[in-house]
Amino acid sequence: MNWNQLFEKLKEINTKDRVYRDEPMKKHTNFRLGGPAKLLVIPETEERLIETITTLREARAPMLLIGNGTNLLIRDGGFSGVVVKMNHQGMKTVTVEGTKMIVEAGALLSTVSKRAQQAGLSGLEFAGGIPGSLGGAVYMNAGAYGGEMKDVVTSVRILNQSGEVATFAREELSFGYRTSRFHQMGDIVLSVTMELIEMDPSEILMTMKELDFKRTSKQPLDKPSAGSTFKRPEGDYAGRLIDAAGLRGLRYRGARVSPKHCGFVILDGDGCAKDVEVLIGMIQKTVFDQFGVFLEREVIILGDEKGDGDA
Ligand SMILES: Cc1cc2nc3c(=O)[nH]c(=O)nc-3n(C[C@H](O)[C@H](O)[C@H](O)COP(=O)(O)OP(=O)(O)OC[C@H]3O[C@@H](n4cnc5c(N)ncnc54)[C@H](O)[C@@H]3O)c2cc1C
Repeated sequence: MNWNQLFEKLKEINTKDRVYRDEPMKKHTNFRLGGPAKLLVIPETEERLIETITTLREARAPMLLIGNGTNLLIRDGGFSGVVVKMNHQGMKTVTVEGTKMIVEAGALLSTVSKRAQQAGLSGLEFAGGIPGSLGGAVYMNAGAYGGEMKDVVTSVRILNQSGEVATFAREELSFGYRTSRFHQMGDIVLSVTMELIEMDPSEILMTMKELDFKRTSKQPLDKPSAGSTFKRPEGDYAGRLIDAAGLRGLRYRGARVSPKHCGFVILDGDGCAKDVEVLIGMIQKTVFDQFGVFLEREVIILGDEKGDGDA
């Protein structure tokens, strides 16, 4: 199947306004960076997602799955394949059953936290300000202010590499610090079941407002970024080490170490993904040379270098 045929086929499966050609990835990432994807599709339902994935696998088309694009740096060459996007533009149904929430993977974590608060369910307060989708949050075992997805997730429905739908319990998800079994397995999270605790909605709201204040006062939320660029090294903080190395505000072309929070690399003015990647390397080298600590990236870098996909 060539790109034209695949484009037409994907439009048959999904409605045609959900399939894009030569789509700039900067429109789909919080960093506002990334060259074009040959095709991009945003399936609206689980059924259409599964049919889309099956079609792509049969056509052996290179595929990249993204959620809300908030932990990603897509390179300037884009992606010479099909990006499948799973965020709130697609599968986002939220169901509350007593203290249980069953949520489709595309729903935004901020929306899910708000729904939990309104339903008088505590446990997701930490997640109110994390801008990702639920699927991305499970993939990353996202966390903040002492909470992590692993504390609330009880099971996950997935689509595996063989096209089968299966359910895994929390114990099978290999959750760790910003990691889960999905980093190895390549399964797609379809929906997530979470168990929460009953609490007065106004009490939950108060905690969420406090955490929101902490976040907005400390993080450079007015600039494009992918959140914390690096994982926390054992016994320390990436931001503290970067600051101590004298890198606060360091700029490489359009990329900059945030003067507000050194753990964030931001886009400040005109720049490209390469600028961010180079600056990340400069930070890693300087911190390693000065303190002997290697800062592991939390941000996921994907896609083609400029020129790679032009053939
Ligand atoms: C301003 C800002 C603040 C942030 N604060 C925090 C924070 O406090 N704590 C924190 O942990 N993170 C934080 N992040 C990072 C980010 O929001 C989280 O990592 C989030 O969980 C990523 O979700 P996403 O939907 O955007 O995933 P994406 O960035 O789109 O994708 C990340 C990875 O998840 C995979 N993925 C996405 N959806 C699925 C799915 N349905 N099934 C399988 N794999 C999937 C993708 O393939 C990719 O490998 C922040 C980011 C920003 C920009």
